[in-house]
Amino acid sequence: MNFTYTSNPSRVIFGSGTLTKLPSELSRQNLKAPLILCTPHQVAQASLVAALLPAVAGTFTEATMHTPTHITQKALAYAQSVESDCIVSIGGGSTIGLGKALSVRTGQPHICIPTTYAGSEMTPILGETEDGRKTTRSDPKILPGTVIYDIDLTMTLPAGLSATSGVNAIAHAVEALYSSTANPITTLLALEGIKSLAQSLPTIVNDPTNKEARSRALYGAWLCASCLGTVGMALHHKLCHTLGGSFNLPHAETHTIVLPHALAYNSKALSQETLAKLADALPDSEGDPVKGLNVLLNTLGVKRALTEFGMKEEDVDKAAEIATSNPYYNPRQIRKDEIREVIRRAVVGEEAR
Ligand code: NAD
Repeated sequence: MNFTYTSNPSRVIFGSGTLTKLPSELSRQNLKAPLILCTPHQVAQASLVAALLPAVAGTFTEATMHTPTHITQKALAYAQSVESDCIVSIGGGSTIGLGKALSVRTGQPHICIPTTYAGSEMTPILGETEDGRKTTRSDPKILPGTVIYDIDLTMTLPAGLSATSGVNAIAHAVEALYSSTANPITTLLALEGIKSLAQSLPTIVNDPTNKEARSRALYGAWLCASCLGTVGMALHHKLCHTLGGSFNLPHAETHTIVLPHALAYNSKALSQETLAKLADALPDSEGDPVKGLNVLLNTLGVKRALTEFGMKEEDVDKAAEIATSNPYYNPRQIRKDEIREVIRRAVVGEEAR
């Protein structure tokens, strides 16, 4: 066995009620003036954080999808005016994105408290939008130093967003299995992550208050996020980035719709061993991971067509053009006509095959 595995240095505190560990975590790092970040929807959770601490520099409540640089500039000016010495982001990928943007600009430590399953907290990747254009960069300095996963904070994540955010996490792990930098360690993490989420998400959709299922889902999301932070991705992430950026589609929902189609395309180039392991991690797959994903999405009752989010069938050609214009790694050769068909199916909501 020959492989290279690079682990990302981050400290993870996981469990129920772990938010209460934040004060000792700040003391451990000798930090005294945290700037708390959240979206307008999560001001109540940000207040919970502030209430736990002996002192806060301030709270910035305008975190926004796609990390627009004008919001980052506003938050940066606020951070300077209140003389913060660290950043505490509580929320999903949008809030964590703002935390990363501030941390990399100021050099201040970033403590993340994720409340969705998107996984940004475990990656050194930052996507930012300026004048409607999204650019992505990777830098070890972007990786948050401490992540506090508190199951209790995920209990309010609505059933629908729990489902799509969970499938977003599964997508990181699926692509880790056939990454150009795949290795036995990320494969272990990926399969355990997929299994945990595929088992727990249907329970959460039926009963969002089921704490055991919430715990399994957050644990799975962490493992899948580690994969995203460690190995390179392929067609699925490329398609979602292209479609999301060019047609202004919602992040988790787009990942959910595209994943079975991207896997169906790539499965023709994957080994029987990889397909069998993935199928084993997905309930009711009967040995076929594409079927396993179709079953999971149907059980979760999620939307299957990008037209439900405003994309039109006429957009398919443009999307195929953009998705195939730059070369990138994929286990199966990128063929424009077949990628067009993958996109068309996702747009109109056909079952993946
Ligand atoms: P999000 O952060 O935009 O959250 C969606 C909505 O759900 C927000 O209004 C938020 O306030 C609310 N919410 C979050 N947690 C909640 C909770 N527990 N209870 C109630 N409401 C809650 O969505 P997301 O899917 O987590 O993140 C998407 C963004 O993250 C995208 O911009 C994506 O590009 C980015 N992302 C980046 C990386 C990376 O590695 N850089 C990885 C994954 C996602």
